[in-house]
Amino acid sequence: MTELLYMNDSYMREFNATVTRVDGEKVFLDRTCFYPLGGGLVSDTGVLIRGEDKYPVTFVGKEGGDVYHLTEKHTLKPNDEVVGIIDWKRRYRLMRMHTACHIISAILYKDEGSLITGNKVDIDKSRVDFNLERMDKALMELVIDKTNQVIKRNLPVKIYYLPREDALNIPGIVKLAAKLPPHIKTLRIVEIEGIDIQADGGPHVHNTREIGDVILLKTENKGKNNRRLYFTIKP
Ligand SMILES: [Zn+2]
Repeated sequence: MTELLYMNDSYMREFNATVTRVDGEKVFLDRTCFYPLGGGLVSDTGVLIRGEDKYPVTFVGKEGGDVYHLTEKHTLKPNDEVVGIIDWKRRYRLMRMHTACHIISAILYKDEGSLITGNKVDIDKSRVDFNLERMDKALMELVIDKTNQVIKRNLPVKIYYLPREDALNIPGIVKLAAKLPPHIKTLRIVEIEGIDIQADGGPHVHNTREIGDVILLKTENKGKNNRRLYFTIKP
């Protein structure tokens, strides 16, 4: 199992690791702070360095409990020591987008009773899918307005761990947590004080003010009750 360094520190940009396995362009490490594709978030990119050699990482994914780093034309082999550096500009934007996504989802749930059916957190624009009977642009603009008001409150975003049973007692995260396989005994909790509490595995900013301004880009109807909202962040 690869140790996931970003779970405890979203701001870690650089780390030392050992190559455990190589499968063509896939390089597996014993530890990593690269975020692998999943949970609706795109993956990190960056570089793996061994001595003088630099290998760009174009994609990061999960295979079982292990994380692989996709890199072309590398000569890495098991037991090689490497330094990994993530593309911080990309990652920090992803963190800001991700925390924004949690706030939007929380407001949709609290004010409209909408359940989130999917999301994609990306660099240039992100989207949230949710259930809602009526759909008009004014309502969505109101949701984004409220999101920006929350952001301006400088709320801390806390990350901590709870035993599964305790986490399941928190209203709102029950659904998600109940879907987790029974062998997972401890859950990573992401809490935006007074706004949202989720079992979540992705990187987030420390404080909502880091997000900046959220801007509504587009809304779409995806079938009877399914709605989609695209947003971005500025700067
Ligand atoms: Zn999340």
